[in-house]
Amino acid sequence: MADRISRGEIISLLAGIPLIAAATTAVASAADDSSGTKAQYKYVDKSTKAGQACKNCALFKAPSSCVVVKGHIAAAGWCAAYAPKAH
Ligand code: SF4
Repeated sequence: MADRISRGEIISLLAGIPLIAAATTAVASAADDSSGTKAQYKYVDKSTKAGQACKNCALFKAPSSCVVVKGHIAAAGWCAAYAPKAH
């Protein structure tokens, strides 16, 4: 019986599903639509995510634009469509 999942664990797992669906939708939108708004992608001018910034994103177009987010994009910015550059 040690391998039974508790009710609390099931609730925790189910609670994460909408977040996964939202993230998947954002990525799908990025692929389907060539551009979106800063609000749509939760863009910020200054990233708060350690190691994640537009300058390190595969979708950044130097010096100040982006493949998926419209408008001026700061190299230090970040959005929900962040995709790290391949090394
Ligand atoms: S994190 Fe990437 S996708 Fe998002 S605005 Fe910056 S360059 Fe564009």
